Amino acid sequence: MIGKLFVIATPIGNMKDITLRAIDTLKDVDVIFAERPRHSLKLFHHYGIKKPLYPYNDKNWQRQIETALKLVKDGKNIALISDAGTPAIQDPGYRMVNYFRQKNIGVVPVPGPCAFVCALQASGLPTDRFVFLGFLPRSSEKKKKILKTYGSLSATLIIYESPLRVKKTLNDIKDSLGEREVVIVRELTKVHEEFLFGTPSQLIPKLEKIKGECVILVKKSD
Ligand code: SAM
Repeated sequence: MIGKLFVIATPIGNMKDITLRAIDTLKDVDVIFAERPRHSLKLFHHYGIKKPLYPYNDKNWQRQIETALKLVKDGKNIALISDAGTPAIQDPGYRMVNYFRQKNIGVVPVPGPCAFVCALQASGLPTDRFVFLGFLPRSSEKKKKILKTYGSLSATLIIYESPLRVKKTLNDIKDSLGEREVVIVRELTKVHEEFLFGTPSQLIPKLEKIKGECVILVKKSD
């Protein structure tokens, strides 16, 4: 019998944000593919998970997908976890899932934390319709083009951003969409979790020394 691929969400900060099923599944599988094995070891020590760990990232994904496929064909169940949150959401996990689907191999989702859902659920912005844009291109020109395209929809926009580029992206939002209501969320579920509210002009002066991973939400036009 061939094995299955379990796609398992892990915490985005607070170690308690993991489901009982995720812990059980991580203990049950034969091998775990992790984006940053050393980083994941802290979580595994905490929950007593002891399994062979294989690195799976942007650089080695092609080779490691073949390794994973061989293991599954040998009857092993494998897990895929990312650095944080839900695998396949803005990380190389998608490629493994896609490949396994093409080969008709069972893929089982084990849901849990995801940064953009966490940001949206406590932002106070409309949740009836939203568009997840993930990471935008670094060039302002390309970024503004995407913002204008999706900004015309009647939906909350959600963007992932590094703290180093938040200020620049807020300027691009101001240039392409004007003074819309924006929420910047950083360090979700961590000690310094923070929600900043305002228009781009109100927020830009506060972003000089912003730290931590960020999610930017933009309200739809009125
Ligand atoms: N797979 C992850 C998920 O489920 O959200 C996302 C991975 S993506 C490579 C990393 C980005 O997610 C960060 O740059 C940031 O925009 C967002 N992110 C992850 N953890 C976060 C946190 N604790 N607080 C705010 N944003 C976070």
